[in-house]
Amino acid sequence: MAFTRATGKHRRPSRLTRTTANVAGVAALTTTGVIGGLAAPALAADDAAALEHTGLTQAVSVGDSLAESIDAQAAAQQQAADAAAAAKKAEEAAKKKAEEAKRKAEAEAKAKAKKEREAKERAAREAERKRLNTYVSPISGSYVSTGYQTGGAMWSSGSHTGVDFHAASGTAVHAVGSGTVVEAGWGGAYGNNVVIKMNDGTYTQYGHMSSLGVTVGQAVTPGQQIGLSGSTGNSSGPHLHFEARTGADYGTDIDPVAYLRSHGVNV
Ligand SMILES: [Zn+2]
Repeated sequence: MAFTRATGKHRRPSRLTRTTANVAGVAALTTTGVIGGLAAPALAADDAAALEHTGLTQAVSVGDSLAESIDAQAAAQQQAADAAAAAKKAEEAAKKKAEEAKRKAEAEAKAKAKKEREAKERAAREAERKRLNTYVSPISGSYVSTGYQTGGAMWSSGSHTGVDFHAASGTAVHAVGSGTVVEAGWGGAYGNNVVIKMNDGTYTQYGHMSSLGVTVGQAVTPGQQIGLSGSTGNSSGPHLHFEARTGADYGTDIDPVAYLRSHGVNV
C-alpha cells in the first residue's frame, strides 16, 4: 500500500492515533468480514503489531485522511477561486472607477475649454464692437491749421464749413469712424472728395485729396485709409479739408473738432 506508513513502536504519528480511533469505530459497527474479525480492544490497545493486520482498514482510514486532504485541497482551491474572483471584481471595480474618473476629467476639461473659448470669443466681439465705435483723427498726428467758420474770401459760403488738417501731399487720410461711402469723386470746390455716412447717422467729408481709395457703397471702419491728401479743387496748398454734417447736404455742417472730441478723439 502506497499510503501505508511503516510502523514502529517509537514512531507513532498523531495521525495514526486518529486512524486507530476511526478503525475502532468501524470495527464496532461491523459484525462480519475482515474488519469484523478484528477486535476493537486489540486496536484500542497501544499495539503497533495489531495495526499490521489491518491493511484494509488502514487503507480506508488513509482514504478518509486523503478525503480530508482532498476536501481541504478543494476548500483551499475554492478559497483561492473566491479570492481570485474577489480580486477580479475589485480590479474591474477599480478599472470602472478609473474610467469614470477619466470620463469625468475629460468632460470637465472639455467644459472648461468651451468656457474659455466662449470667454475669448466674447472678449474678441467686445473688442471689435469697441473698435468699430471708436473714432480717430482723419490725419494721424496732425493738427488743425485753419479752424471752423473762419471768415474770408477763400470760401464761397463766406466762412469755413469745416477744418483744415495740416498734411503734406500724399499723406494717408483715414475714415474717422465706421460708416458707408456715399460719395467718392470730384466735388467741385472740394476737389477729389469722399463723403461717408457714419453709423450714427452723421456725415463726414474729406476734401482736396490727391487720390481716392474707396468707392460708393463701400463700408469703412475707424482708421481705414480712404485716400491720400492733396490740393485738388479750391485749395491754397496741400492739406485735408474735413467736415462733419448732420445730413448729406451742404449747409448742415457742425463743428468738426467738437464732433471728433465728442467721440473721444484728442484734437
Ligand atoms: Zn478747408
